[in-house]
Amino acid sequence: MTRIPEPTPVPPSAHINRTHENHNQDQNGNKDNFSVPDIQLQIRDLKHPGAKRFLSAVDAADCMTTATLNLLKLLYHTPSDPETTVPPTSSVRLILEDIPGVAYTVGHGADNNIKEIHFSLSYIAQINPSRVADEINGVVTHELVHCFQYNGHGAAPGGLIEGIADWVRLHCNLSPPHWKQEVREDWDAGYQHTAYFLEYLEQLFGHGTVRRINDKLRSNVYAEDVFWIELFGREVKDLFAEYTKSFQDLHN
Ligand SMILES: [Zn+2]
Repeated sequence: MTRIPEPTPVPPSAHINRTHENHNQDQNGNKDNFSVPDIQLQIRDLKHPGAKRFLSAVDAADCMTTATLNLLKLLYHTPSDPETTVPPTSSVRLILEDIPGVAYTVGHGADNNIKEIHFSLSYIAQINPSRVADEINGVVTHELVHCFQYNGHGAAPGGLIEGIADWVRLHCNLSPPHWKQEVREDWDAGYQHTAYFLEYLEQLFGHGTVRRINDKLRSNVYAEDVFWIELFGREVKDLFAEYTKSFQDLHN
C-alpha cells in the first residue's frame, strides 16, 4: 500500500460552514454574480486514512466554491440572463464516510434544494498519490453538477445526467488519465462516453449547446422522441450515428 503523506494539522472542528458571494469580472467587463450556497463539510471518521489525505490535499471550502462557480458558468449564463434559471439549491453538505464505491448525491427538503454529497473515504485513501487533489476536485465537481442540474422532471435517462456531469468535469480540465474518447453502442452509455458525445454536439451546434440541453431539461418533461428534434431538428440516434462516423473517420 502506498504511504500516506503527512497530514496538515486538522482544523479544531471538522465542520466548516461558509457562504461565499463571488463577484468576478471577465475581460469583457461582464459580471458574474453567481452565489455559492451554504457549504458544509462533515467527516464521519477523522481517523480514517482517507480523511487525512483529503485534508492534506485540498482546502474543502476552496474546492467546493471553485467547483460550484465553474459548473454554474458552464451550465448557466449570469443569473440576470432570462434564458437560464439556476435551481434554488440552498445548501450542499459534503460528507466523507466509509461507503462502497466512489460517491453519490441525494437531495432533501420541500424543493429538493438541500443536497448531500457522500464521498467514500476508502476511495480517497486509494487514489494514486500523484493525483489526489485532481481526483478529489474531479469527483466533487461531478457530484456538485448533480446538485445544480435539471433532469427533465425525473424523466431524463441516467446516462444523460451522468454525461452532463462528466462533460463539466471534462471542461474543468479534471478528467482522469484513464478517460479516452471511444464510441460505445448507445449515446446514453453515460459518464465520459456521453460527455464526449455532448462535446461533439457543443462543437457542432456551438458554444452553449449543453447549456441549452440542461435548460430544456428544466422546462420540459423529457421525452426522447421530441426532445432532440425540438432542440436540433434531428433525432438523437441520428446525431449519435453522425458522431460515431466522424469519430471512426478520424481514427481509422
Ligand atoms: Zn454522477
